[in-house]
Amino acid sequence: MLVAISLLMILGACQRAEANATGPINWYQKHQNCGGKMQSPIDISTKNVVHDPFLELFNLTEYEKTSGVIMHLANVGGHTARVLYSGTAVYIRGGSLPDKYQLDQFHFHWAKEDLTGSEHSVDWKHYPLEMHIVHHQAGMGTLQSAAARPHGLAVIAFFFKVCRRYSLST
Ligand SMILES: [Zn+2]
Repeated sequence: MLVAISLLMILGACQRAEANATGPINWYQKHQNCGGKMQSPIDISTKNVVHDPFLELFNLTEYEKTSGVIMHLANVGGHTARVLYSGTAVYIRGGSLPDKYQLDQFHFHWAKEDLTGSEHSVDWKHYPLEMHIVHHQAGMGTLQSAAARPHGLAVIAFFFKVCRRYSLST
């Protein structure tokens, strides 16, 4: 059984050197936006994490909407599953985001082996599965047009781990 644990998606520098030529350290060679200091994947080094007392809680209550919700599941290139969202607009707020952000899609990252599935890591530890919930800034048009703007996208990520036993009782 998979159990989600929280992860705050943080944009940051690509810090891990991959052994192969197509790894993240070499992405900039084919994608010009990948050579900067605000890109994925990142490793969250817990010893360098600093608590920000001004961070606000996220308001994710609109995820509970069910009326007018349309979701379309797709196999993307044989390497991930993506659910496109349309219908009644769903927004997230808070989390010290500069605006409200509209839900577009969610997708998953995993691998054949549980130790390498997640895109990001914590102290270089990867998780079996990582889910990204992708939103664009309200009033910025589409996901594609918002992606070209600073702060145009907000992605919430969740790590999942495999548990031997899980109980729904409290
Ligand atoms: Zn992703």
